[in-house]
Amino acid sequence: MPRMRLARSVVFLVCLVGGSPAAAQVPETGDGPPPTIASRVAGLTRVEGFIPLFWDARRGRLLMEIARFDTELLYAVSLPAGLGSNTVGLDRGQPGPTDIVVFERVGPKVLLLARNYRFRATSGNAAERLAVTDSFASSVLWGFTVEAEDDGRVLVDATAFFVRDAHGVAPRLRESKQGSFSVDESRSAVFLPHTKGFPKNTEVEVTLTFTSGDPAGSEVQAVAPSAQAVTIREHHSLVEAPDEGYAPRRFDPRVGVIPIIFYDYGTPVTAPLEQRWIMRHRLQKKDPTATQSAAVAPIVYYVDSGAPENVRQALIEGASWWNQAFEAAGFVDAFQVRVLPPGVDPMDVRYNVINWVHRTTRGWSYGSSIVDPRTGEIVKGVVTLDSQRVRQNVLIGSGLEAPWAAANGAAGGCAAGAAPDVSYLAQADRPADVEALALARLRQLSAHEVGHTLGYEHNFAASSYGRASVMDYPAPLVQVRDARLDLSRAYAAGIGEYDKFATRYAYSQFPPGTDEAAGLARVVNDGLAGGMLFIGDDDARRPDAAHPLASLWDNGADAVASLEQQLQVRRIALGQFGLGSLPPGTPLSLLEARLLPLYLHHRYQLQAALKSVGGAYFTYAIRTSAGSQPADVQRIVAPAEQRRALDAVLSTIDPEVLVLPQRILDLIPPAAYGYRGGIPEMFPHETGPIFDPVAAATVAADLAVTGLLQPARAARLELFHARDAANPGFHEVVRALLRHTWGQPAGRGPGAQGAGGGQSGEVRRAVQSLVATRLMDLGASPAAAPGVRAVATSGLRRLAAQLARSTDAHSRETKDEIERFLTRPNTPRTPTPPPPVPAGEPI
Ligand SMILES: [Zn+2]
Repeated sequence: MPRMRLARSVVFLVCLVGGSPAAAQVPETGDGPPPTIASRVAGLTRVEGFIPLFWDARRGRLLMEIARFDTELLYAVSLPAGLGSNTVGLDRGQPGPTDIVVFERVGPKVLLLARNYRFRATSGNAAERLAVTDSFASSVLWGFTVEAEDDGRVLVDATAFFVRDAHGVAPRLRESKQGSFSVDESRSAVFLPHTKGFPKNTEVEVTLTFTSGDPAGSEVQAVAPSAQAVTIREHHSLVEAPDEGYAPRRFDPRVGVIPIIFYDYGTPVTAPLEQRWIMRHRLQKKDPTATQSAAVAPIVYYVDSGAPENVRQALIEGASWWNQAFEAAGFVDAFQVRVLPPGVDPMDVRYNVINWVHRTTRGWSYGSSIVDPRTGEIVKGVVTLDSQRVRQNVLIGSGLEAPWAAANGAAGGCAAGAAPDVSYLAQADRPADVEALALARLRQLSAHEVGHTLGYEHNFAASSYGRASVMDYPAPLVQVRDARLDLSRAYAAGIGEYDKFATRYAYSQFPPGTDEAAGLARVVNDGLAGGMLFIGDDDARRPDAAHPLASLWDNGADAVASLEQQLQVRRIALGQFGLGSLPPGTPLSLLEARLLPLYLHHRYQLQAALKSVGGAYFTYAIRTSAGSQPADVQRIVAPAEQRRALDAVLSTIDPEVLVLPQRILDLIPPAAYGYRGGIPEMFPHETGPIFDPVAAATVAADLAVTGLLQPARAARLELFHARDAANPGFHEVVRALLRHTWGQPAGRGPGAQGAGGGQSGEVRRAVQSLVATRLMDLGASPAAAPGVRAVATSGLRRLAAQLARSTDAHSRETKDEIERFLTRPNTPRTPTPPPPVPAGEPI
């Protein structure tokens, strides 16, 4: 984005807020020749720019002068003012559909036609290309009526085209069960302050009010002042299509750059129809022969001036790390970050922006791009950062650190009769460590989301070889030093080695005369030799994922060792958790929200460790021209490693790990008056208002139990065991799980004489019931392979036989339930399902 354009745009920018002088006489349409444009627009406010607009203030109409026919342009829709609900997903700054469109004149009509670039023929033969174009549908997005014309230019009334739900807000509200809303025209209009013309783009914004006769859903009720009227704004960008100076680059699955995929019917019959190019910005060296060169036009990102000062600074710093990656790819200062200058509209497509967005609840941040569907060229990057996620880090940090412990000591130490010491109040609201932790995370997040808009996919393997990528999800790395927690290295600073590798692939410009395919192959081979493993979303996020190195929110090369370390961190943090975890003046009931992320601190590292059980290492290897087999195409996790992971996972469901100290339980009263609801970090209670430590333990245990009994994992265990009997089979896992839970004395439990083992006994029984329930779920699951169901059922039979010898109520009830299940395994069961796992991703 050259700086020049900013200055030039000011010339064309016409502010419309003042309205227009009295409108001119508007001639009526008749059978004679169409009126001239000049006569039709006399007295209207003209907005100069790529496609000139005329604002008719008297009638509230927006007219458009079309001069370019059959010329491709980009048409992008976005949402500049959103709903403010993460659940519904209509956020400020959200990009909508992007199309390549052309205006076509047909008699008195002008059609706006979206071309279909998903199917094409990259062939020199025009007839071949036409055959493909005519074989697949295109879409006429709008039909305009010509109102006036001069020398091939026509004037159309575009009001209805713009004042419509082009972003799809109504369908989104309907899909998210918020009601059947539609646009109320009487409450909708062109939004003049953001309707502007620039040399290469015309921007139109509209205010749309959606109304519904039905009662609105809870999300709409929570955010809109009136649930019967939801007013948002949608934005239309008509942009000059990028010129032919951009060269598409081919995709390689071993590097995580996002592809565009299309069908090319111009390829030889022996070549694949499906073609893949990567998404990236246009970036060219000033001196293509130099190893390091400045760019003809650097990539510039602009940070929302609406973000608070310290946040804005963190966003700039984090995003700026990318310049290190572009340097590694041979560029000098080719990536720059600035604050959005006053008067510049964040929706203007010439600016890559980092928006700071507010919602009622915390939610995902994301990076998305306006991409030329013909080539994969990124025209504009839009980063949306959720303002509440930084508060989630404060929650995590204050749970770990108990940062207000000193304040608590000061208050508690106040002797009777003496003046209370309130000096702690001065800084108590802003514990420096926790704030530093939150800002360190924001830098990471800024770099991460900008990374998506540079074309990069997640790489969930990167945390297994150093902190190699900002495109992984970072868990706070808490270290233990002299039995104290150290958060000083919680988040990495700077761009990772893998990010440099990906940038070399996507952006390197090879000297003139170089064979690009060979140059790219060298980049990939060097990266692979340096250990730059890429494993993407599907192989990390899904519950059935199998790669032991690819996980979200984990740390380290050895997931089992990291799990053990994070359990130690959790033990220390629980030891210091208490009044000091809460700022003075806060209701004690809110301790529960700070306890939850801490109590489940190990949850993501646990999921990482689980992947070694029935896991396999693999790469996205391709067949190279050399013809030799690449290293590490696929390899089953060694039997000893699988068993070590199984033991570590089972250790997380021990009562010693799950039982909370009575000291903490005594500190958490029911929700204070005026503080009920609206907090996602709450455990389920089966005890009404009273905090339920048994439900909390069940939730934590279920992470491990459900993970071990995941149907695909179970099927892999059986497969790998069949291949080599040294590998643990699923029957071994089920036996270990039963031995670890039901092999221990159950305690006497309800109905028996005397105590049932205190909280520890309660927790043990809850985990035992959970294991039986989850085995029955698996035994009846249509998702499980027959062999897996057989192993689950056989485990239940053995357990029932064992319980037949017990007389306590808990054992008898479980035995009866298993027998009912074994008799009619496919009848829906009635027992209470285990409590749901609450929200907690450190998004
Ligand atoms: Zn992401």
